[in-house]
Amino acid sequence: MVSRKKIIREIIREYRTIWSLGVSGSLMGWDQETYMPPKAVKERSIAGSSIAVLSHQLLLKPDFVQLVERASRKRNLNDVEKGIVRVLKRSIDQAKKIPPEHIAEVSKTTTLALEFWKKAKAQDNYDIFKPYLGKIVELMRKTSEYLGYEIHPLDALLDLYEEGLTTKDVDGMFAKLEPGLKKVYDKIMSEHPVPDKHPLEDVHYKAESMKRLNEKALTILGYPWDRARLDISAHPFTIGIGINDVRITTRYEGFDFKRSLLSTIHEFGHALYELGVDQKFMATPVAGGVSLGVHESQSRFWENQIGRSKEFVESFYPYMKRYLVFLRDHSPEDVYLYFNTVRPSLIRTEADEVTYNFHIMLRYKLEKMMIEGSLSVDELPHVWNEEIERLLGVAPKNYSEGVLQDIHWSMGSIGYFPTYSIGTLLSAQIMRKIREEIPDVDEDIRKLKFRRIRKWLREKIHRHGSVYPPKELVRRALGMDLEPEIYVSYLEQKYLSR
Ligand code: MG
Repeated sequence: MVSRKKIIREIIREYRTIWSLGVSGSLMGWDQETYMPPKAVKERSIAGSSIAVLSHQLLLKPDFVQLVERASRKRNLNDVEKGIVRVLKRSIDQAKKIPPEHIAEVSKTTTLALEFWKKAKAQDNYDIFKPYLGKIVELMRKTSEYLGYEIHPLDALLDLYEEGLTTKDVDGMFAKLEPGLKKVYDKIMSEHPVPDKHPLEDVHYKAESMKRLNEKALTILGYPWDRARLDISAHPFTIGIGINDVRITTRYEGFDFKRSLLSTIHEFGHALYELGVDQKFMATPVAGGVSLGVHESQSRFWENQIGRSKEFVESFYPYMKRYLVFLRDHSPEDVYLYFNTVRPSLIRTEADEVTYNFHIMLRYKLEKMMIEGSLSVDELPHVWNEEIERLLGVAPKNYSEGVLQDIHWSMGSIGYFPTYSIGTLLSAQIMRKIREEIPDVDEDIRKLKFRRIRKWLREKIHRHGSVYPPKELVRRALGMDLEPEIYVSYLEQKYLSR
């Protein structure tokens, strides 16, 4: 039982239907990305939006809202009870503040915008997408007005993805990160401690062998196959249907095998978070990961801190060689270098650990300007190109390499990008903390034994679900806030003291 208090038990009982609708929505979403026949898309979207409307109505049912209100005024709530009330109050507030007509307009606009973004990207023609982006910026500014903010209109949107996050936080984070990161980057570019390109990037693999290798990696890392799945989708993702039903996907592009392996390990990190939530929280509002930033810290931890480490790559090498026979011509050290090339890529999703955050800084800066009205969609591509050249020293040759590359803005997701950086930075802090508490952790990784690491993550982060707001959870787990310098020194250590 998650609570002895009558009012909390009542809330959870009422909430169960909303939770169940969420389960069906998630399952339908997972199915749509994996096995649904393509022509089912129209029927599925009717069903999906009806479920969303129903769930919205139940959340705003006066009895339920009153119950949550009453509970929030109680003084003797414990942490879990407070968490349940906080999560529900937040959803109710958001749902109340934004009028249904606005939600409908956003949904209509983004559905169209997504189609025109795809077309614009395929034809490398920004003008096709521009009017829709303009409309989306306008709608998101309105969303932010509805939600309310103290200092900057982007604050209200940041908070949607990362509870409590403000432009002040993100400005501070990047101000601390940029100079150090730039120094590391410039040094790597002049000294070349790792290659900028590797021949294995062009070597082709068979999807069937790659699948077996991914499964092997997941098993070694500790993926519980009786509570989780691995499937294929165009864009890899993780979805938590419940604490004991978490599903990840990967893709097989047929070449550059580390992309499939590391993206599988990345999603494993997301999955482990959802799977590690306290079983007592089943079917309650606190049963999932607390925020996108904390979620990304888990995926980046497994992808970068483990998956790209020398200990892991070299110890996992015999398995890689077993399934991918072309690796016979490459030493473990060489495969490690292949996993850790650094180069100024123009494409965010192909960026390495060193350059990745520059891509986020760029997007955040432009989002902030667009939302405050100091940058128009007409000027956007030009400013994009200038800024990426300032950061990385390379300029896009076309729109697809520049302003049209990401899907996010077409879906109305403005304010989402910073969570990627938060997660990446946190993952290095988590590793540092684990190393303090488990000094011989590298030995574990070398032996491909991950029990102690999984236990640490579950104990400090996973089991709490959404009980604590993200900033508080980080402080509890790490004893400190986000510290961008730790990421910079991680990079220095890894790339410049080889
Ligand atoms: Mg992720």
